[in-house]
Amino acid sequence: MNAEIIAVGSELLLGQIANTNAKFISAQLSEIGINVYFHSVIGDNGGRLKKAIEIAESRADLIIFSGGLGPTKDDLTKETLAEHLKVPLVYDENALATIESFFKNQGRTMTENNKKQALVLQGSEVLPNHHGLAPGMMLQKDGRTYILLPGPPKELEPMFQFEAKPRLASLISKGGVILSHVLRFYGIGEAELETEIQHILDAQANPTIAPLASDGEVMLRITAKADSKEEAWKLIDEEKQEILSIIGKYNYGTDDDTLASKTVEMLLHHKLTISAAESLTAGLFQSELAEIPGVSGALVGGMVTYTKEAKINQLGIPKELLDQHGIVSSECAASMAKNVREKFGTDIGVGLTGAAGPEPHDGEPAGTVWIGIAIGDDVVTKKLRLSGLRNTNRLRAVKYTFSYLIR
Ligand code: ATP
Ligand code: MG
Repeated sequence: MNAEIIAVGSELLLGQIANTNAKFISAQLSEIGINVYFHSVIGDNGGRLKKAIEIAESRADLIIFSGGLGPTKDDLTKETLAEHLKVPLVYDENALATIESFFKNQGRTMTENNKKQALVLQGSEVLPNHHGLAPGMMLQKDGRTYILLPGPPKELEPMFQFEAKPRLASLISKGGVILSHVLRFYGIGEAELETEIQHILDAQANPTIAPLASDGEVMLRITAKADSKEEAWKLIDEEKQEILSIIGKYNYGTDDDTLASKTVEMLLHHKLTISAAESLTAGLFQSELAEIPGVSGALVGGMVTYTKEAKINQLGIPKELLDQHGIVSSECAASMAKNVREKFGTDIGVGLTGAAGPEPHDGEPAGTVWIGIAIGDDVVTKKLRLSGLRNTNRLRAVKYTFSYLIR
C-alpha cells in the first residue's frame, strides 16, 4: 500500500502555516510500514482539489486528506470528494447528536452550517473526533482507501493516531500485527551507514528498514508484519542482530533513547558523578544532561569559563600552558577536565573548548573542538573537525562528548 497526503487550505499556500499535518501523518505511517510517495498542498478551491484527487488516484492507493471539514463555505473537501466519487453525503446520527449537545451546553443555537459538519460520505466508517466537532471518515472504494481528517492538529493528530492508524494497520496486516523498532546511531554519517549495510537494505522485504537522519544522528526503523507479536519481534530481532554485527559500534540506543538519557543511565548504573568546564558550549552540556529526570544522582555541577582569564582565574589553568598551546588545544581541554573534576570532587570531569565559528578562534579554524575527559587520574582528549554552523557545532560537540562517555 502506498500513500499520498493531500493537505487542503489556502493558508498553507500563502505561507501562513507549515504543513505539520503531513509531517505527522507520514511519520505515523512509516511506523506501520506504509510508504508515502507524495505530499500535495491545495488551496480551498473545488476545481483544483478535484484535479489533485485525480492525480493522486493515478499514483496512490491510500489517499489521506487534511483540512476542509469545517462548517464554512471554504471547507469543501468532503463535498468535492463526494461529487468526484459519486457517493452521496448523509447525516451521521452520532456526529449530529454531538454537535447538538455541544450547542445546547454552550447555550447557543445551532445553524444549518454547523449541521453540515455531521455530513459524512455514505458507506464510510466514521472516525470520532474527541477534540472538536467534525468527524473524520475512512472510505474504501474501487480498491482505494480514502481518509478524511479535520485540519486543526489537536484534532487531526489524535484522530489519526488512535482511530485511523489502527484501522489501517489491521487492513494491511489482515488480522496480523505490525511492530516497529528504532536503532539509533552516532558518529557515522547517513551515507556511510547506508553503504555499510547496502546489501541488507537492498534485500529487505519483511521486515522493512527505513533510514532517517537528523541532528547528526542516524536512525533505522525496522518494521515487521507477522501473525503474532512474538513472530514480529523475532523477525525484528534477527534483522537487528545482522545490522549490529556490521555497524554495532556506532549504535547507542533504541526507540526513545537519546544520547543524554543513555549517558545519565550509564552514570547512575555505575554510580559515577560528573562535572564539566565548558567554553564553546557555555553550559549546553550540563543543560542537555539536566533535561533527563534523575540526573541529580550524577551531575554535581560545573563552570562556564569562556575567556582565557576565566580559565586561568576561576579554573586555575596555568597561564603558561595557555600561552604555549592556545585555548583550542588538547592541553587546554585536558586541563579543564582535570581541574573541574578536582574542584567539584567528582569521578568524571569534562572539558570542552573549541572554535564554534564562523570565525577562527585562537589560530584554530572554525569547527575545531577539543574534548577532555578526566576519569580518576587519567585524562583522554579527542579532537573534532566539525563543518556546521555555529550552534550546530556547539550541539555536535556535546553529542560527541555523550557518545564518548557511553562507549
Ligand atoms: P475547522 O473546523 O477548524 O474549520 P477544518 O477541518 O475545516 O477545521 P481547516 O479550516 O482547513 O480545517 O483548517 C483549520 C486550521 O487547522 C487552520 O487554520 C490551521 O491552523 C490548521 N491546519 C490546517 N491544515 C493544516 C496543516 N496541513 N498542517 C498544520 N495545521 C493545519
Ligand atoms: Mg475550516
